[in-house]
Amino acid sequence: MKELKSGKVNLLDYTLNGLEEFFIQIGEPKFRAKQVFRWIHLNGASTFEVMSDVSKTLKAKLSEIAEIRVPQLISEHIASDGVVKWILEVGEGNKIETVYIPENERGTLCISSQVGCALECQFCSTGRQGFNRNLTAGEVVSQLWWANQSLGHTPKEEKIITNVVMMGMGEPLANYDNVVTAMKIMLDDNAYNLSKRKLTLSTSGMIPGIDRLKNDCPVSLAVSLHASNDEVRSEIIPLNKKYPIKELMAACSRYLSASPRDFITFEYVMLQNVNDKLQHARELIKIVGNMPCKFNLIPFNPFPNAGFESSSRDQILQFQKILRNAGFITTIRKTRGEDIDAACGQLVGKVNDKTKRQEKWRTIAIQQVSSK
Ligand code: SF4
Repeated sequence: MKELKSGKVNLLDYTLNGLEEFFIQIGEPKFRAKQVFRWIHLNGASTFEVMSDVSKTLKAKLSEIAEIRVPQLISEHIASDGVVKWILEVGEGNKIETVYIPENERGTLCISSQVGCALECQFCSTGRQGFNRNLTAGEVVSQLWWANQSLGHTPKEEKIITNVVMMGMGEPLANYDNVVTAMKIMLDDNAYNLSKRKLTLSTSGMIPGIDRLKNDCPVSLAVSLHASNDEVRSEIIPLNKKYPIKELMAACSRYLSASPRDFITFEYVMLQNVNDKLQHARELIKIVGNMPCKFNLIPFNPFPNAGFESSSRDQILQFQKILRNAGFITTIRKTRGEDIDAACGQLVGKVNDKTKRQEKWRTIAIQQVSSK
């Protein structure tokens, strides 16, 4: 039983199976767990009071030992293109970001998995904030709960959030158990009933986690590749020193055997004079070989003291052309929510820069550029 500081357990932390076990432990029949689970996730209940088909006695009992603890809203930012970003507090001043991106036929929610991040990718605003702690399963899934509430929707109605990407603050596979629990709740048809194809986990390349995920909860996989060789990748993603590209590609190939999609998405942030040469595009073609995959080129969204510039539009188009000519579906990510700093970690980073790395990264980046 996972207790909060209040001494109560957070029912948002439980999958339906977990909640059934909890109810059995407290001497209640299993079916009650399903009722409560549906109230929380399908109807957006945050108190036991509203659960009209739950007896007064059970409500009183639950209130003694449990709660439905959702994050506190710090601020809401709505961009001119409809993107919404929420800064949420998960206790003790720890802030996370959740972003909703509406498009014509779908609505995508980008969810955080950690407060900050320990992986220190050099181009990432979240990486600049240092690492505070993993989010609990309840704190991960409550971002979806929150977004539905805030958008005035319950999942039992027609879905407004059709897609979820684990692509916000943090490395989801570094918080494996909690993220997998949260994703199982998102997939449950007694909760958000998301399709595995429309739930995407994005990793910077934690190979053991990729292999575990294949067996535990296969969802769509995106990999933050961002470089075509180990030399550049290790510079901008330190984790690459532990899990180099060749081994990462092998893990991606293994994942495909269980993936709900028949391809891996490779994310590639376009950093001027760092990873955007046409030679890099040709290297990419070689390293992925015959693996079914798509590339998503991301114009870098600069933030103060980033030390990197985005590649020019023309350079990105030329890069894309090489990949397309080799037969790869290659998209260029639309920049959304620019007027609210919607890129990962930017808003929290404004409030909460815990590192003094800016100068160091800027120096490294300048050295890289001048040595090319
Ligand atoms: S890109 Fe992702 S893994 Fe890398 S520092 Fe940022 S949040 Fe962490």
